[in-house]
Amino acid sequence: MFTSANSYPIKVLRNPPIKNGKYFPVCVQLWLTNRCNLKCPYCATQARNISDELSYSDIKEIAKIISALGTKAVVLSGGGEAILHPYIDEIINLVVASGIKVGLITNGILLKKLRSLNSLEWCRISFDDYRIFAEEKYIFEPIIMQHQHVDWAFSYLITDNFNQANFQAVLDFVLKHDSITHCRITSDVFNPVEYDKIPNLNSLPKCVIREPNTNVSSGNNPCYMSIAKPLIAANGNVYGCCEVLQYLGFNASTKIGHYSELPNIIRNQLFFNGTKCSTCNFSEYNKCLEAYDPRIEIKHLNFL
Ligand code: SF4
Ligand code: SF4
Repeated sequence: MFTSANSYPIKVLRNPPIKNGKYFPVCVQLWLTNRCNLKCPYCATQARNISDELSYSDIKEIAKIISALGTKAVVLSGGGEAILHPYIDEIINLVVASGIKVGLITNGILLKKLRSLNSLEWCRISFDDYRIFAEEKYIFEPIIMQHQHVDWAFSYLITDNFNQANFQAVLDFVLKHDSITHCRITSDVFNPVEYDKIPNLNSLPKCVIREPNTNVSSGNNPCYMSIAKPLIAANGNVYGCCEVLQYLGFNASTKIGHYSELPNIIRNQLFFNGTKCSTCNFSEYNKCLEAYDPRIEIKHLNFL
């Protein structure tokens, strides 16, 4: 199972995001809107301005810019809930028509509204200890059954009030459906809990653990991931990742530029200085990407 943050960086080893000696945004994380239909107590993006939303013409411009830069994949996430954007279907179809694959992270409640599900590569539904899976299962099951070519996944956020029965209900559902590839287990970023709340976690099938608390270190300068996988937020600005916003907020020190400046950011390789980030879930990715930096001389390369 090859996911991204906190996993062995197999994807950048297999497919280094470098063209003509320069790093480029192979994957872009896009926040369409900051509005949300839930108020999760652990929400990592509470500091966002709820009224920020990218317009359809912003998205058209973004699709043009990133496709020219060589972007291959876009992850729609939040921020808020992407399906609340009034042009969500048009946006998914537009990005796909630009030759870019789209993955969606959603709380799942509005999935029935989504007419463009067939255009998605994958869709991950976020779940947690507070929402009772037995009460919402009826929303997801028919949609997953009807769209089996989409790679489905769940994430489950565990809190201090770990709800073992609820987690088990999600896991049983994941195991029941072949089109659900995995369940990603995560923890409240501001109030991390130990994963040992989940008995026998390491031997649970189809489970991927994010943020093992032992494997987090501070950020890198340069942060290669800020160019390989930048975040374009609903205010139109570019950031190194969502993690940096959780800890340092939306301000001049975290902003890399406006999305219209992306071509210049890539041309001049204006990496974010990650030393400001006290924790970084992409530190392994950054270490690996450093090995491709043409500015760093590595002597005796053939002496393995
Ligand atoms: S669904 Fe996501 S964006 Fe919405 S409140 Fe919950 S954590 Fe925050
Ligand atoms: S936490 Fe900081 S160093 Fe790490 S990927 Fe995000 S912006 Fe880069």
